[in-house]
Amino acid sequence: MILIDNILLEEEITETSFSCDLDKCKGACCTFPGKYGAPLKDEEIDLINNNLESAKKFLSEKSIDYIDRHGFYEGNKGDYSTVCIDKKDCVFVFYKNSVAKCALEKAYFNGESNFRKPISCHLFPIRINNTGRKYLYFQNIPECKPALKKGKSEKIELVNFSREALIRAYGEDWYNKISEYSSKNGKPKSFSFISGGLNETVS
Ligand code: SF4
Repeated sequence: MILIDNILLEEEITETSFSCDLDKCKGACCTFPGKYGAPLKDEEIDLINNNLESAKKFLSEKSIDYIDRHGFYEGNKGDYSTVCIDKKDCVFVFYKNSVAKCALEKAYFNGESNFRKPISCHLFPIRINNTGRKYLYFQNIPECKPALKKGKSEKIELVNFSREALIRAYGEDWYNKISEYSSKNGKPKSFSFISGGLNETVS
């Protein structure tokens, strides 16, 4: 673990090469099977509500109907998340060429919304551990294996790839510090995945 200005993080974040490869992963992080969607900060509920109609323009009738009947979030103060449809797709997912995309982000980049997307989605695969002492960690999932390969071959560090999200979350001064730490101390890391009985290493 390293500590940069009161923010604790696993060193893996500064040692990993990463760049999303959507053609290969198909936006899998927006469609994970599970009961809950993306974690939401309390203040993000209002921010999404204010931009909901813009986001709906990009959603299917099924998704809009789902939101109208169930809302877009669930949980309690301090522990909200987006709703998933059929325990899979986040309710804000739409598909383009078989790739899952975020309707909130689409509306933002179309200039129709002032909220890009939840900070938890923006930071992913960096995640915030909220149980016990708060810290940042790299969530290494098999779906991101192509992103590890692409990051490695194109020499893109995770810290660099996540620059906008890290600045949004912790400010530019903090980002400059982690970026400096990463370039001085980050050592390339290998990851192993076990799937279908095969153990594959990306190094
Ligand atoms: S974080 Fe992983 S699953 Fe999500 S878009 Fe990037 S590579 Fe794909």
